Amino acid sequence: MTPHHTPAPPAPTLTDNLGRTINYVRLAVTDRCNLNCRYCRPKGPCDEPRRELLSYEELERLTRLLVEMGVSKVRITGGEPLVRHGMLDFMRRLQAIDGLHQLALTTNATLLGPRLADLRALNLAGLNISLDTLRPERFAAITGQNLFADVFAVIEEAIFTGIPVKINAVVQEGINTDELLDLARLAADRPIQVRFIEPMPFDGGNSFVAGNWNLARLEQHFREHLPDVREAPTAGATARVLQAAGFKGSIGLIGGYSRCFCATCNKIRITPQGMLKTCLYDDGVLDLKEVLRSGSSDRELAEMIRACLGRRHADGFAAAEQRKKKGLPGSCASMATIGG
Ligand code: SAM
Repeated sequence: MTPHHTPAPPAPTLTDNLGRTINYVRLAVTDRCNLNCRYCRPKGPCDEPRRELLSYEELERLTRLLVEMGVSKVRITGGEPLVRHGMLDFMRRLQAIDGLHQLALTTNATLLGPRLADLRALNLAGLNISLDTLRPERFAAITGQNLFADVFAVIEEAIFTGIPVKINAVVQEGINTDELLDLARLAADRPIQVRFIEPMPFDGGNSFVAGNWNLARLEQHFREHLPDVREAPTAGATARVLQAAGFKGSIGLIGGYSRCFCATCNKIRITPQGMLKTCLYDDGVLDLKEVLRSGSSDRELAEMIRACLGRRHADGFAAAEQRKKKGLPGSCASMATIGG
């Protein structure tokens, strides 16, 4: 007799008005940071009172609900996530959520060293570390802290322990553009991806300049100077991935300003203060903190989130246009208040 198997229920899928699958959430768990990167929040700390943040309980409830709705990947970001007390315990709680297949972290690595073993045990899907330069004095000038040696050592240690590491470098014309090849060559003998990010107008109202290093120029630069560069296949990623001959790792290009990946964008964001953003360039489409604290049920919350996805902007240009119509500044909030 053939044994009778009950087929597993199909995994839930969450889609937007344009049929894009949404399976990735970036949770910004704090807007505090111990660095003051010149392209992010050069004016110094923005100390939102603690109570304004979503609590860990609220973040966990939201994550569980989103996973039930179809999300399978969560990235913890900020601000600097590791400045928030209890972060590792929180991440352990998220890792235990059934259906959450990938938990990842973005960090500046300044507080990573003592937590590396715990993070290793968490089996992270990815650890993205910001590093814009290989020169200690430049690191200090860009971030406001003289911590290059510590950060670089911990990056090497993280790679050695086998955590999948990506390096995030923001391309800053005239500041680090003479080191792009040196940064890319980190991937020559390390199994990492070095990702070059176009600067975006989320610099705390500093004085954003897009500069001339867009994705096309970056790609041309690497093709000209690195051996036999080919494009690597990527499945719906928001990075274009290049592979140079003989490299253990790869190079990623992230066109956050060109906004060339919007057609396949699979991610939504939750800001530290609990705004849902369905596009990096929108001004927040749902105040989740208010909804959570008003006693709404999970079902009501899910309906509200679905309704927001039902009117998601086609791309980051449309979202920015909408901001303009509302009279909001196009360039102002620090990435630390959004979660890059
Ligand atoms: N503190 C963590 C870190 O340093 O990686 C996580 C938060 S940080 C806001 C996340 C990412 O956003 C970093 O890789 C950072 O380089 C990037 N970022 C910040 N401001 C940016 C801007 N104006 N344009 C492009 N990328 C930016």
